[in-house]
Amino acid sequence: MLKKVVIQGFKSFAEKTEITFEPSITGIVGPNGSGKSNVAEAIRWALGETKTKILRSERQQDVIFTGSQGKKPVGMAEVTLILDNSNKYFPLPYDEIAITRRFFRSGESEFYINKSPCRLKDIHELLVDTGLGKHGYAIIGQGQVDEILFSSPEEKRSYLEEAAGINRYRMRELEAKKKLLET
Ligand code: ATP
Ligand code: MG
Repeated sequence: MLKKVVIQGFKSFAEKTEITFEPSITGIVGPNGSGKSNVAEAIRWALGETKTKILRSERQQDVIFTGSQGKKPVGMAEVTLILDNSNKYFPLPYDEIAITRRFFRSGESEFYINKSPCRLKDIHELLVDTGLGKHGYAIIGQGQVDEILFSSPEEKRSYLEEAAGINRYRMRELEAKKKLLET
């Protein structure tokens, strides 16, 4: 389903880097510290991950390339994911969906779905119940198996509900309750 990742200015990827995924299995190999985990983090980040711990950073700004020998720091991190939607898995009338996230050193964020500006919330809504989003299990990081095994019953339920396609409704329920409180 993931066809391509384009990374620029994110962590160790100073220059624009494109990684294409062919059907079946893709492996990424390389020496320690060469940026393998950074690729997975770039994907998570573009999918809307906001927890800095999961991104192995302290502040949001830490995802921006900080410079290396002979390379200057950059002012913005940008990651685009190209998802195949020829089977209309996502309810949008396009064969491909491009999700873009940008973050500037100034602290400003930008999100795009197929080049149209949107909110982070729109990305969360697009991905809810697909396993890719906030409560997703499509990316299992190092040490995360334990985290799932030892999570609270509520958190375990959330994983099951994501698989069952219920989180979409839970999200709407929460929103409706919030609106009710506001009135
Ligand atoms: P291992 O095999 O040890 O797991 P890896 O290939 O997964 O290694 P990563 O953890 O993806 O490697 O990459 C780590 C590298 O990314 C380090 O060299 C680190 O300096 C670099 N890095 C992380 N954040 C930034 C940043 N904001 N700017 C520049 N470089 C960064
Ligand atoms: Mg690693």
